[in-house]
Amino acid sequence: MGKYGFIERALAQRKENARFRALQPLIPDLRDPIVVYKDGRRMLSFCSNDYLGLSRHPKLREGAARYLHSHGAGATGSRLVCGTYDIHARVEEMLACLYARESALLFNSGFQANSTLLAALADRGSLVLTDKLSHNSLLQGALLSRATLRRYRHRDLTELERRLRDAVGRYERTLIVTESVFSMDGDRSDVDRLAALAQAYEAFLIIDDAHAVGVWGEHGLGLTANKGGIDLVIGTFGKAYGSFGAFGLCAKSVKDYLINFCPGLIYTTALPPAVIGAIETALELVPQLDRERDYLHRLCEQVRARLNGMGFDTHTSSTQIIPIMLGDEKLTLSLSQWLEQNAILATAIRPPTVETGKSRVRIALSSHHTSEHIEYFLRVLQDWDGARD
Ligand SMILES: *Cc1c(COP(=O)(O)O)cnc(C)c1O
Repeated sequence: MGKYGFIERALAQRKENARFRALQPLIPDLRDPIVVYKDGRRMLSFCSNDYLGLSRHPKLREGAARYLHSHGAGATGSRLVCGTYDIHARVEEMLACLYARESALLFNSGFQANSTLLAALADRGSLVLTDKLSHNSLLQGALLSRATLRRYRHRDLTELERRLRDAVGRYERTLIVTESVFSMDGDRSDVDRLAALAQAYEAFLIIDDAHAVGVWGEHGLGLTANKGGIDLVIGTFGKAYGSFGAFGLCAKSVKDYLINFCPGLIYTTALPPAVIGAIETALELVPQLDRERDYLHRLCEQVRARLNGMGFDTHTSSTQIIPIMLGDEKLTLSLSQWLEQNAILATAIRPPTVETGKSRVRIALSSHHTSEHIEYFLRVLQDWDGARD
């Protein structure tokens, strides 16, 4: 088979299991954040992380264009070399001020931050405790750090506490790493209890607030807003903020440490001016969107109640991310295909992303989903043959 043999075998296996995945190009409709075009067909998106529709907002596009024209297309270097412009520094000041934290640090993406932060903060002598369902980027970071990695049962803080107790005196340092909103189940961590545990056991607490910033908490500042005892909050600009990039909120010393030791910040070109322009505009806009958030929060409750009423299991969801649990992979695929035939995009989530037997169609709601969109979605779901099995 030659040197590509392993690639061909792996791909063939994916195809056999109907788990082969391919990229699907879409064209966004700039007038309606819910609409995309796929192969020329108008589709309603129920799978985007653009929870407030900001990716297509005229003000974000103007903000991006403004810095594109004033500062150019690229940042020309790493943050540490010549890639820190006045606009990068200003956005970091805005972030720290808005989130009322000592300091803020931009990263190129949430994945890049998470997958290299832990390599800087943990080492061979450390213990990293993460939730079993933590995002892959956090897992990558933990592996890269070579720390001892222990994953506690999903949201089981009693197990976390037992592990913290067992670790006393056995490691140079202990880190707790989790998200506030889990991307596949749409449920939440108990942030207060995590902070209390971190304090009691002197553990370094990192909370990834990626799906919460912009959507939850006072003025959309996330589920970590106004909470003490968290050493590092991670947020992304790629979801509700409608753009790209990520940020950390932490003490000034932690920021300085990361600037000196975090490879994902040091060895990469800084975010381009246009992205900074979009981010800056989003930071001005997002706190003002309380009405949109209230609507979205109510919509989440309503959609879950309607789905449950139709006999669908939405698992432990308590956010805008709602899994429709089907268990079986084929059934899951058949539902997402049925939805797509009816001009609805919703993601089939199957192993290896989730455990075998926990396949689901995952929907994500936005403040731009209207009651007409929802009624149409529920009607299509009702008409699905699988619903009557
Ligand atoms: C999306 C996501 C990330 C990655 O963020 P990007 O900015 O898209 O790279 C990290 N953590 C969690 C929990 C996420 O959901």
